[in-house]
Amino acid sequence: EVKQEQGNLSINSENLFPIIKKWLYSDHDIFFRELISNGCDAVTKVQKLEMMGEYQLQEGEKFRVDVIVNPEEKTLKFIDNGIGMTADEVKEYITQIAFSGATDFLEKYKDKTNEDQIIGHFGLGFYSAFMVADKVTIDTLSYQEGAEPVYWECDGDSEYSMSKGNRTTRGTEITLYLNDESYEFSNEYRAREVITKYCSFMPVEIYLSKEGGEQEYQTIEKDELRDDDVIAETIVEDEKTEEKENENGEKETVVVSPRKERYKINKRPSLMNDIHPLWTKHPNDCTDEEYKEFYRSVFHDYKEPLFWIHLNMDYPFNLKGILYFPKINMEYESIEGTIKLYNNQVFIADNIKEVIPEFLMLLKGVIDCPDLPLNVSRSALQNDGFVKKISDYITKKVADKLSGMCKTERESYEKYWDDINPFIKFGCIKDDKFNEKMKDYIIYKDLDGKYISLDEYLEAAKDKHENQVFYVTDELQQSQYINMFKEQGLNAVILKNPIDQPFISRLEEAMKDKNVKFRRIDTDLADVFKETASEDDKKVLEEDQTKLTDIFKKALGVEALDVKVEKLKNADTSAMITLSEDMRRMQDMMKMYGMSQ
Ligand code: ADP
Ligand code: MG
Repeated sequence: EVKQEQGNLSINSENLFPIIKKWLYSDHDIFFRELISNGCDAVTKVQKLEMMGEYQLQEGEKFRVDVIVNPEEKTLKFIDNGIGMTADEVKEYITQIAFSGATDFLEKYKDKTNEDQIIGHFGLGFYSAFMVADKVTIDTLSYQEGAEPVYWECDGDSEYSMSKGNRTTRGTEITLYLNDESYEFSNEYRAREVITKYCSFMPVEIYLSKEGGEQEYQTIEKDELRDDDVIAETIVEDEKTEEKENENGEKETVVVSPRKERYKINKRPSLMNDIHPLWTKHPNDCTDEEYKEFYRSVFHDYKEPLFWIHLNMDYPFNLKGILYFPKINMEYESIEGTIKLYNNQVFIADNIKEVIPEFLMLLKGVIDCPDLPLNVSRSALQNDGFVKKISDYITKKVADKLSGMCKTERESYEKYWDDINPFIKFGCIKDDKFNEKMKDYIIYKDLDGKYISLDEYLEAAKDKHENQVFYVTDELQQSQYINMFKEQGLNAVILKNPIDQPFISRLEEAMKDKNVKFRRIDTDLADVFKETASEDDKKVLEEDQTKLTDIFKKALGVEALDVKVEKLKNADTSAMITLSEDMRRMQDMMKMYGMSQ
C-alpha cells in the first residue's frame, strides 16, 4: 500500500526546474505532443509485453489516448490505458528529472524486443506540462498484478506529494491545472489545432472531447450505436401509412415507411489521428489515389501533385517518407514547399534545414526518421554527421527518381519539365552532388517545341555558330528574332524562368574549357547573320557607318561611340540594333539592384 509521502524532486540544483519549465521548449504548445506521446509509449509497452507473452490482454480491449478539455475548470486531462506506473516507478521516472522509463524498459527487455515505436528517451518531456500548468496530478495504475493505484501531485515547485490513487483500470490519467497565461489550451478548438499539428499520425488512437459547459449532442441511426455512447434521447419516427385503392377498387392501408428509431447521444469524442499513415506502408501496397488523397489531407492543396517518391529505407538507417513534386504556378505564388519531419510518427517540425537540403524545400512531403538523434534543441542537429548522411540520402533518391524518369519515361519527363525545371536547376546550383547526378538530364525546349539536350543543340549548330547557345526569354517580345532564326534555319532554346540566368552562368563556368557561351536571341547576332559583303557593298556600308555614327552620337550625346554596320543575310529585316550579351546581363543586374530605370 502507498502511504502518504512527501519528498523532493531529485535534481542537482533547485535552479534547474524553473529553467526547464521556461526554456526546455520554445513552443509552449509542445506539451500536448509530450504528454500524448507518453500515453502512446505506455500503450506500446503493453503491446510489447503482450507480444512477449508477459501480459494477457482482456477480450476486445482497445487501446486509446483521450484528451479531455474543460474550459470551465481550465483543466486538461490526458488519459491512456497503457502500462501505468507503480509507486516506485512514479518516484523513479517522474520525480527524477531526466530519467527515462523508456530506456529502462528497453534495457530490461532488450533480448526480447527492440526500440521500434517507443518515442521517449530523454526523460524530460513530462516536465513540459509545467510550462503551462500551475499544478499537475497523476493518477495511475500499473499493469502488474496486485498493483495499487498511485496519486501524485506537484504544484510546480520542486516538491511533490504522493498517496493512494483512485484508478480502477490499468493506465494513467494526467491532469493539468492551466496557469493564467495558458487558458487557451482548454479551448476545444485550440486543443484540436495543436493535436492536429503534432499528433495526426501518432501510432495509437487519440480522442478529443470536452467536459463542462453545455452538453453537446449528435444524432445517429440505430445500427450506429456503440457501447460507450450515452443516449440522451430516443427519437421515434412512427410508421407512415397511406390509403390506396387496389386493382379491385377496394380501399387498402399501405405502409410507406416503417417505424424508425434514432438516437440523440452525447457528442462522441472525435478521433484525431491516422495510426497507419501512408508512408508506413510498403510502396507496392499504395495506390495513386491513396498518394493523392494523403497529399490533399496533409497539405490542403487542391492541385494534384505531379508525381512523388516513396522513401523506404532500413539500412544503414531507418527512414520512411513521401516526397511530392507540387504543381508550381510561378505567376501567383512563391515556390515554397513544406517538408514535415517526424520521429516515429510524432511530428517534430516543418522544414528543418539541417536534415533536408535547402533546394528540396520546394517539394512537399513527410519524412519519418526514428533514428534521428533528436535532441531537445535544433542546433544540436547542425554539425551531426548522421544528419548529413540523411540529407545526402534524400538528395540521391530525388536525383535517382528524376534521372530514372528521364531515361525510362521520357514522355512524362518532358511533360513535367516546365514544372520541375526550376527545382532541378535550383538543385544543381545549390548542391554539387545533385548537379553531378542531374547534369546529363537537363533538357531544353527549342523553337519547334521539341526537347533536346545541350549537346544536341551544339552539334546541330556547329557550322553556323560554334559553341554559342541562343536562347529566348520572352517569346512575344523576341518574336521578330525568333522569325529571323527560323527563316535562316537556326535554332534557339527557351529559357524564361528567373532561375535560368544564374543557371546559365553556372553552366558557362562549368564549360569554361569548351568556351560555350549563352546569348539571348537579340544579342551578339552580327556574327550569325553577317553576309560576306562584296566590294560594292563595303563602300555602302562604310558610308552608312559614318552617317549612323553621327546620328547616334547626336541622339545619345556621347562622343566616344563605336558603331558597326554589317550586311545582313535576312532580306525581310531592313535593320536591327543589337546589344552585346555581356552588356545586357550587366543592365539586367543593375535593374535587379534598382540602379537604373
Ligand atoms: P521520456 O518519454 O523521454 O522517457 P518523459 O519525461 O516524457 O520522458 O517521461 C518520463 C518517464 O515517465 C517515461 O519514460 C515513463 O516511464 C514515465 N511515464 C510518463 N508518462 C507516462 C504514462 N502516461 N504512462 C506510463 N508511464 C509514463
Ligand atoms: Mg516522453
